[in-house]
Amino acid sequence: RAKAEGRRCYHFYTPEMDAALQERMELDQSMRQALERGEFHLVYQPRVDLASGRVLSLEALVRWHHPQWGMISPGRFIPLAEETGFILSLGPEVLRQACEQIRAWKARGVPTVTVAVNLSARELREPDVVDRILGVLADTGLEASDLEIEITESAAMSSIEQTIRTLTELNTQGVRISIDDFGTAYSSLNYLKRLPVHAIKIDQSFVSEMKDDPANHPEDAAIIRAIIGLGETLGLKVIAEGIENTLQRDFLLDHGCVQGQGYLYSRPVPAEDVERLLNPAQA
Ligand code: C2E
Ligand code: MG
Ligand code: MG
Ligand code: MG
Repeated sequence: RAKAEGRRCYHFYTPEMDAALQERMELDQSMRQALERGEFHLVYQPRVDLASGRVLSLEALVRWHHPQWGMISPGRFIPLAEETGFILSLGPEVLRQACEQIRAWKARGVPTVTVAVNLSARELREPDVVDRILGVLADTGLEASDLEIEITESAAMSSIEQTIRTLTELNTQGVRISIDDFGTAYSSLNYLKRLPVHAIKIDQSFVSEMKDDPANHPEDAAIIRAIIGLGETLGLKVIAEGIENTLQRDFLLDHGCVQGQGYLYSRPVPAEDVERLLNPAQA
């Protein structure tokens, strides 16, 4: 019987699964080569004042341009990079590129705003993460206030005590923190209260449902209102993600969310185009 089961177990690994595993291993290998070849770069999406469209800060987002495959979305490679640990090589490269770009803008007298960099759960768990971030700031001659770190709600809430220690250290050094994809995990409000964060970002899945009449999506509308209320109660800024049309913007403004980002205002753009966004008068 055991043998039969064993055999059945063996058959559980189908050729299709081997192919999928093979593909993931190849993608992982390609990522490692891509880093050496400099195929990763950043684009920047403005976070704006929803009423005026004025740029308040930027979010840096990584892009991979493969010479043959073209653009590969971070949605495809970041989760794999987290799983394989490659993110521990890619993350520092992203942070370095973002900080060097801020320094370059400053050197050229571009009116700079804070740049938010996404930090993965895996990076957050590294014992030297704070030193690493402070080291890059020092190397590039930036102020801690030039940088912001985005951590997803689910990353923040796993190993919560360690998260609190790490984020408190960062915050003490002047690096601001925001909680990304808020509303998708199950934050304990008690923990949220203890996290030294300055903003929560409403996950775009909720905002996305507001593209037509919010009355058609009462649950999503209620969640958005609850997050805005929570932000007000805890004294946190609330930033909405994924705003694509004016219905979404108006719903958010009507309910007291004044900051956000989305294609309605700007797609993520290369560094060269950021200047125009920061200096609309000169455009
Ligand atoms: P995220 O940090 O929540 O970033 C927001 C994502 O929404 C970005 O996708 C952005 O391009 C997209 N977006 C912005 N406005 C709109 C809109 O109006 N409509 C829609 N449909 N989408 C919009 P992107 O750049 O593909 O990144 C996906 C995710 O990959 C990010 O989600 C983040 O979790 C991860 N990621 C991206 N860059 C990095 C990075 O440098 N490091 C780490 N650890 N993760 C990253
Ligand atoms: Mg983000
Ligand atoms: Mg997000
Ligand atoms: Mg996301």
